[in-house]
Amino acid sequence: MSEFNTERKPASEATEVRQAAKLRKISRAGREDFLLAERGRIAPGSPRQILGRFGHAVWDLDSYAFLDDPAFEQNPPTTVNPSLWRQGRLNNIAGLFEVAPTIFQVRGMDISNVTFIAGDTGWIVIDPLTAEETARAALALVDEQLGARSVHAVIYTHSHTDHFGGIHGLLSDEDLESGRVELIAPAGFLEAAISENVLAGTAMLRRAMYMYGAFLPHDAQGHVDTGLGKGLPALPTVGLVAPTLEIEATGTELTIDGVRMVFQITPGTEAPAEMNIFFPDQRALCMAENCTSNQHNVYTLRGAQVRDALLWSKYIDESIVLYGDDTDILFASHHWPRWGHEQIEHFLSSQRDAYRYVHDQTLRLANQGFTMNEIAEQLELPDGLGDEFFNYGYYGTVSHNAKAVYQRYLGWFDGNPAHLWPHPPVEAARRYVEFMGGSAAVLEKAARYFNEGDYRWVVEVVNHVVFAEPGNESARLLQADALEQLGYQSESGPWRDFYLTGALELRANGTALKGVRGNALGPGLVRSMTVDLLVDLLGVRLNGPRAERLELDVNLVISDRDGDLWTFGTRHGVIHARHGVRSTSALVEIESTIESFSAFASGSKSLEELLGTDGFRATGELALLAQFVESLDVFDFGFEIVLP
Ligand SMILES: [Zn+2]
Repeated sequence: MSEFNTERKPASEATEVRQAAKLRKISRAGREDFLLAERGRIAPGSPRQILGRFGHAVWDLDSYAFLDDPAFEQNPPTTVNPSLWRQGRLNNIAGLFEVAPTIFQVRGMDISNVTFIAGDTGWIVIDPLTAEETARAALALVDEQLGARSVHAVIYTHSHTDHFGGIHGLLSDEDLESGRVELIAPAGFLEAAISENVLAGTAMLRRAMYMYGAFLPHDAQGHVDTGLGKGLPALPTVGLVAPTLEIEATGTELTIDGVRMVFQITPGTEAPAEMNIFFPDQRALCMAENCTSNQHNVYTLRGAQVRDALLWSKYIDESIVLYGDDTDILFASHHWPRWGHEQIEHFLSSQRDAYRYVHDQTLRLANQGFTMNEIAEQLELPDGLGDEFFNYGYYGTVSHNAKAVYQRYLGWFDGNPAHLWPHPPVEAARRYVEFMGGSAAVLEKAARYFNEGDYRWVVEVVNHVVFAEPGNESARLLQADALEQLGYQSESGPWRDFYLTGALELRANGTALKGVRGNALGPGLVRSMTVDLLVDLLGVRLNGPRAERLELDVNLVISDRDGDLWTFGTRHGVIHARHGVRSTSALVEIESTIESFSAFASGSKSLEELLGTDGFRATGELALLAQFVESLDVFDFGFEIVLP
């Protein structure tokens, strides 16, 4: 019975039954993955706490120590899906590891791995983690254990922050300015890295806080693991330094400091710009984030453009064709490596087939007329694929990946005109609640379903009461209790964190983020920002109705980008912009550094503040410019998700 208070609850009986069934299902799991994850450990993760710029812990290994409690080794707490618990313990195995005589990894000190390849005189580093703080700590651990060596090259395998953000922890400004360190990335890296989090940045980041459980305590009733790694670093210092060398084509070979590398470009897989790297002399293959020890996301729940499962599968097959015969060691930018030619070929082909299966079967069913939710409900990986732990839905799931495939090909509409023009949530909720006999009747019935353990149905119906009557405390608390049990039952880290964060915000009657400004571009991003993207961001911020009658053209010169010239402006509430053009009818002239224009476009500084700085000069009809700025929305992270 839901007790209608704001306390976190234990696992219900229904949840305990499900966890026990799951525990039986995974009981055949041996120590194999643990042996792989522990193999070659030179030193444990250190320091246990990595401090950040606010004196806070960016990374805290101790906060996850509860997973290693021997009391729970056979019987995990019933508030955690036993399979996720197992993955959480695997991801807890942190430290410096020898993968091969010249290949080392620091794992478990960020959500991602950093890999150090020993050259003749120094290091080639693959993927410098998310945070300057964690990358610096990883390098210090390597220096301490293996002796200090200089970094000759850094390779970014792909355009996600957890693979480039920590660059300043490895290299000083002097290293970077001297040009003696090669920074290597797949073609399209920089554009992808800066664009993915800008235009929809506030919404994505807010949702990412749900997905990664940013506000949840680290304990058996809170965040335990993301599936992909422990979690995101807290308030990390993130940088972005442009590559000095972009790899354009598969088969490109480089030798740096005596280390031979062959690149396989895999755009449009796990990231828009991504590449695998083969090391022929070590017979080692780096699969970037294309193959990791979980099913990955074809769609990421924080929100992003849907990925291409078919292409992803085909690129994995290409890896097998190109490098399979010559590979004895496989490592990636998350999770533990694999050794042995046959095991690796099995792993690669199984992951290839898992993505392909989800893709093909989704479309097979769609072509039979099944719609998105119907397909997600019935699709399961076949035994030979589904029983491999590395295909388990710890991060992506078959359910939400099947929906992603459907969405990629067929979009949000299922073809049923009854779904073409539904009422938005509050209006629908009011009508549903009225039809169901009023909120008291709904809650009474819902409580019955809650007691039977049908939480999935409870959250669907009680959500209507919450949206129709946000002041209804019983509805909010019942909804929270039901979401919580779903979270406890989830095998996927992101599903768990979404459910538990929803419960948290319902119990608190709203988000703690009210008034926290969004769309701030970190200083790391700003250096590499394009004017094009900044003007697009202005367009996204422009409040159409408010700017409807405003007409303005602005000539813009970016002073520290060789006088790069732009015209932008607004008419009918929409932005327009052209590169390399000077408008003769412009009423305002701006000369700005890229940094100041980033502050202007993102709204991180007011017009008055900017006008008082050296980096920003505006002349002409400043009152009109002020009116333009007043027409720009300022985004707030504190929008509600589980409340109207
Ligand atoms: Zn990653």
